[in-house]
Amino acid sequence: MAQVILLGSGAALSDETREHTYMVVQSAKSAILIDCAGSPVQRLAKAGVELDSIDHVVLTHHHPDHIYGLSIFLLDLWLAGRDKVLCIYGLPETLRAVRAILRAFEWERWFDHGFFPVLFNRISKRQRGALFVTPDLAVFTAPTQHLLPTIAVRVLSSESGRAIVYSSDTRACDAVVDLARGAEILFHEATTRIKPSVGHSSARQAGAQAARAGVRKLVLVHLPPQTDADAFRAAAATKFDGQVIVGKDFARFEF
Ligand SMILES: [Zn+2]
Ligand SMILES: [Zn+2]
Repeated sequence: MAQVILLGSGAALSDETREHTYMVVQSAKSAILIDCAGSPVQRLAKAGVELDSIDHVVLTHHHPDHIYGLSIFLLDLWLAGRDKVLCIYGLPETLRAVRAILRAFEWERWFDHGFFPVLFNRISKRQRGALFVTPDLAVFTAPTQHLLPTIAVRVLSSESGRAIVYSSDTRACDAVVDLARGAEILFHEATTRIKPSVGHSSARQAGAQAARAGVRKLVLVHLPPQTDADAFRAAAATKFDGQVIVGKDFARFEF
């Protein structure tokens, strides 16, 4: 069975209980990292995910809390002995930022010492159909409405026929509802509880989005410091009749 493991669940400003929001989708035959914060290798080890199982990284946008872990992730994979290709997907703006960061670390020199191949794959804002497929997962994206170009991500398991969707950062928008339609679980950002901040959603709006999309479960992520879990859950539940879960680091969700 495929599962999502939250490697982090916090907003850009987080606290001692939450790393920034990013996650790994793991199935029998593959694993996909969505966003890349903190120290991914440490978190993946703690989650029990084999580094070699990850061949794909999808980056939703180039705010620091979503991509700052990529440089150390690449370096650590190499130090751990990786020699096969890693595919990284992002909007042109996202990949431009990632490359600039890697250039600051003079990563081109790493290739003189046998660094593994990295393939950058641009996501078009007009992307239709699957972005890529693995033996048992298919990945789809849609542009969200955030402070800079951002995508939401849908992952479909061919084993179960079920899908999960991650809103990434966004104000409540139709594109996420359309992408999430009929999904098993919607991981939606809830940077605030009731009143949304600019470019972001509240827990209450996340509930409304889940109801509109007709998903079975809503998991709130991208949570602020000292989140009052009961209050966030209740805010979402005013709009959504299904199960509402307040995300926690290392929480697992099968689909
Ligand atoms: Zn963010
Ligand atoms: Zn952002």
